[in-house]
Amino acid sequence: MTIGIIGGGQLGMMIAEAAKRKKHKTICLDPNPFCSASYVCDEVIVGSFNDLTKLKELGSKVDVLTYEFENIDALGLDYIMANYNLPEGINPLYISQNRIREKDNALKHGLKPVPYYKVLNKEDLILGIKKLGLPVVYKTTTLGYDGHGQYLINSLADLDKVVLANEGILEKYLDFDYECSIIMIRDNNKIVSLPISINKHKNGILDLSIVGKEEPIFTKIKEASYNFMITSNFYGILCIEYFVKGNDFYFNEMAPRPHNSGHYSIEGCSLSQYDLLVDFLTKESLEEPLLQSPTIMKNILSEDYDKLHLFKELKDVHIHDYYKKDLKPRRKMGHITFTNLTYEDYLIKYAKVFEGE
Ligand code: ADP
Ligand code: MG
Repeated sequence: MTIGIIGGGQLGMMIAEAAKRKKHKTICLDPNPFCSASYVCDEVIVGSFNDLTKLKELGSKVDVLTYEFENIDALGLDYIMANYNLPEGINPLYISQNRIREKDNALKHGLKPVPYYKVLNKEDLILGIKKLGLPVVYKTTTLGYDGHGQYLINSLADLDKVVLANEGILEKYLDFDYECSIIMIRDNNKIVSLPISINKHKNGILDLSIVGKEEPIFTKIKEASYNFMITSNFYGILCIEYFVKGNDFYFNEMAPRPHNSGHYSIEGCSLSQYDLLVDFLTKESLEEPLLQSPTIMKNILSEDYDKLHLFKELKDVHIHDYYKKDLKPRRKMGHITFTNLTYEDYLIKYAKVFEGE
C-alpha cells in the first residue's frame, strides 16, 4: 500500500521507516524539501499543510493517510476527511489542537486534569490566580510545544514577564512525583498499548524516557486511558501524558500521533509505536508490543548534537539522527536508545556526558 503522511519531521521519518520494513510506500507532505522524512519516503510533496491543492495531490496519490503534525487547519482537515481515507478521523486532532478543548474532553471522559482556568486578558489572569492559588503555569491554548509560550508564575511580580496570547490557559502548578505517558493503538477489534514510560523533562522539553519499572499505579492509568479512548470514540494512535502525585494521576495532554516518549519502542519493544500505526493504517491485526529489556531513550537537542555518535560502537546503543540541517537552539536533532539498561545504570554510565547543557 501507499501511505500518505501529513508532515515530514522525525515522527514522519520513523513512520516511513516502519512502513518500509513492511514493504509499503510512503509519500509525505512538508514545506521543507530536506525534511527528516525526505531521507526515507519514496516521495516528498513540498508545500504548506494548509494548502488544499497540496493536500489533494497527496490524497490522490495514496491509499491511506495519517498525520504526524498537529496544527493542520480545520478547512484542510474537513476536505481530507470528506474525500480521502483518514481512518483516525479528525476529531482527536481537533480536540488536541486546543488545550482547553483537550482538558474539557478529558474531564468529560473520566480523566482528571490539574485545575485550569481560561484566560483571554489580564483581568482573567488575576481572577485565575485568585481561583487556583499560586504557583500557576500560563500556556497558550494553541500551537504550544516543547514548553514554548509557557510561563511559571510563582508570585505576582512574575506577571510582568507574561506575554498573553489571544487565548491562554492558566493551570495550577503541580509539584508532581513524576511524569509518565501511555501510547495506545486502537482498531475496530481491540486496543494495544506500549509499556508506560516515565518521562523526565528539562526546560519543558522531554529529555529522557525510562521504561522497565512497573509502578503499581500503572494498572489504574492503563484502565482509565483505555476507557477514555473508547468513550471518546478515538481510533488509531493516541498518546496521553500524565503527572503522577502519590496515588493520584492527572491528565496533562494528549497527542493523536506517534509521540516522542514512544521512540524507545523501536528497539525496546517487539513492535514499535510506528509498526503498530502502520499495522492500523494497513488493516493488519494488532498485536501487543512486549518490552524486551529495560530501556532508556535520551533526546539529543542541538546543544548536544556533537555527542550523538559518541557511543555508537557500543552494544545496546541505538543512534537516530534526524538529519536536520539547521542547529536551532533547543531543537530535537536525534535520539539515542539504550537497551538492556536501567535508569540507575544510565546515571552511572552515561548521564555525566550530557550534564551542564
Ligand atoms: P508542551 O505542549 O509544550 O509539551 P506541556 O503542557 O506538556 O506542554 O508542558 C511541558 C512540560 O512542562 C510538562 O511536561 C511538565 O514538565 C511541565 N508542566 C506543564 N504544566 C505543568 C503543571 N501544571 N504543573 C507542573 N509542571 C507542568
Ligand atoms: Mg507535553
